[in-house]
Amino acid sequence: MKDMQTETKNCQNCKRPFMIEPDDFAFYDRVKVPPPTFCPYCRAQRRFCWRNEWVLYKAPSAFSGKDIFQMYAPEVGVKVYEKEVWYSDQWDPTSYGCDYDFSRPFFDQFKDLLFEVPLKNLDVLNGVNSDYTNNLTDPKNCYLVFNGSNPEDCRYGNGINFCRDCQDISHMSKSEECYECFWLNGCARCMFSSQCDSCFDMWFSKNCVGCNNCFGCVGLRNKSYHIWNKPYSKEEYEKMIAAFGLSSYASVKSMKTRAKEFWLGFPNKYVEGIKNENVTGAYVDRCKNVRNSFLVRESENLRYCQYVQELPGSRDCYDYSVWGDNNQLVYECHTSGIGMHNVKFSVFAKENIRDVEYSYACTTCSDCFGCVALRKKQYCIFNKQYTKEEYFALREKIVAQMNETPYRDSNGCIYRYGEFFPSEISPFPYNQTLAQEYFPLEKEEALKRGYRWIDTGEKNYKATLLPENIPDDIADVPDAITQAIINCEHGGTCNQLCTKAFRIIPDELAFYRKHQLPVPHLCPNCRAFERLKQRNGIHLYKRQCGCGGANSLGDMYKNTTSHFHGAALCPNEFETSYAPDRPEIVYCEQCYQAEVA
Ligand SMILES: [Zn+2]
Ligand SMILES: [Zn+2]
Ligand SMILES: [Zn+2]
Ligand SMILES: [Zn+2]
Repeated sequence: MKDMQTETKNCQNCKRPFMIEPDDFAFYDRVKVPPPTFCPYCRAQRRFCWRNEWVLYKAPSAFSGKDIFQMYAPEVGVKVYEKEVWYSDQWDPTSYGCDYDFSRPFFDQFKDLLFEVPLKNLDVLNGVNSDYTNNLTDPKNCYLVFNGSNPEDCRYGNGINFCRDCQDISHMSKSEECYECFWLNGCARCMFSSQCDSCFDMWFSKNCVGCNNCFGCVGLRNKSYHIWNKPYSKEEYEKMIAAFGLSSYASVKSMKTRAKEFWLGFPNKYVEGIKNENVTGAYVDRCKNVRNSFLVRESENLRYCQYVQELPGSRDCYDYSVWGDNNQLVYECHTSGIGMHNVKFSVFAKENIRDVEYSYACTTCSDCFGCVALRKKQYCIFNKQYTKEEYFALREKIVAQMNETPYRDSNGCIYRYGEFFPSEISPFPYNQTLAQEYFPLEKEEALKRGYRWIDTGEKNYKATLLPENIPDDIADVPDAITQAIINCEHGGTCNQLCTKAFRIIPDELAFYRKHQLPVPHLCPNCRAFERLKQRNGIHLYKRQCGCGGANSLGDMYKNTTSHFHGAALCPNEFETSYAPDRPEIVYCEQCYQAEVA
């Protein structure tokens, strides 16, 4: 055992210093990897380059020649099969097996294999009537839903687990009939709301728990019939909601702006989340010892993880992004889940996969190294079958060779054993990945750094309806709107995967009518990116509590009770995802709890 002290290193990629702490060394020892050479942010960016969250292409299958929807841009040149064929015995991934070439760097050879072995068009397990979706498990009647499990009758959104009849939602769990919401759990009929738990019939509300029938509220606990945080009788409440005229696009637009301004007058907790013990990051619920992590539910002992939302939660993982469902000892993996154990440096690894490293799209395998698209295999290297003894001996030789003959990327970074795949061999264009959401780059800069870039948006379309000509009130919208090609108000100028034009599908129109909601003026991608603007990034900042004693610093908010620190400034310091220049009031746990109780 090394003697465990905090060490400061300089990141190979961004050159900034980062710390490796005793706990971190203990984890690296446990999964038998060398300590990282990239800082946590550059590691996240590198993984995020392997995740296309939003874009579908239509291109021919390399198997049947039929046009199929797929997550890979055809010009990138990977081989794509329809998933029904991919999962069948009509082809054999081990027929692509090859000997390891000790004269070439590992990642060069891995790239060749990745571009040779057929990949499945979409990562959808057991979909029913959900052709226009990706990265989903068990979806039913879903349309343009990306990332999640068990969504039913949902349209437009990402990070959706066990939700029904929802539309335009992100990072949601166990909720029904919600619209334009972010990070809700166990909610029903919530509209334009965010970070609420166990609430129903809410409008424009944030950080509420156990509430119902609230409008424009923030930080409430177990309340009903409140408007702008003030109580009303049921009758008064209903009268006022009706008077707001929320079936009108103009009314909704002005309420959205007003709610955001109102929310700014109330404190936020330094870690967005509830029922946690010893956590840092944001959007973390019901977790223990989860640090520097974002969008995580019901997990334990994680660090530097993102989007681990799927239940049951995961434990003892580092640098694990997207998915979840009962995993342990995962390191540097992306879009992988369902009972993984000791899996490292892998993408699309799933379903009880164990002791696997450097894999892409492998399912239910164990003891595999450098493999692509294998199913139910053991002791394979570069898709070639070995005996147990041969496997372990060859793996050891390759690890040694990776250290002696490392890969060098176009920015001069060195990749020995222990690094995740270089971003430049990813089959996804940078601008269509999570990397662009969290580490946005302009096209020139991305190309200069060796990333792929492919412009998105319809090229040849003829809009038949301008957004300003959509009837303001849902009551005046005709059935024929589902025939229209509507111009997105952003017109492709926003750098957020704008498709420039969009349609309203019949199920969607029925949803607007049922809930008396106006028709949107933006394409689904622009709606998602506008909604996600309220989601903090994955950087953490050291700050002091924003509580000044009787009021918040700057006097935006007047405390309702006296706090443990009396009339003096609160001395508590913390790490938070709210950057120091942000307008939000940010309180420590104690000051926040004193105000929301
Ligand atoms: Zn870095
Ligand atoms: Zn758009
Ligand atoms: Zn405080
Ligand atoms: Zn205080």
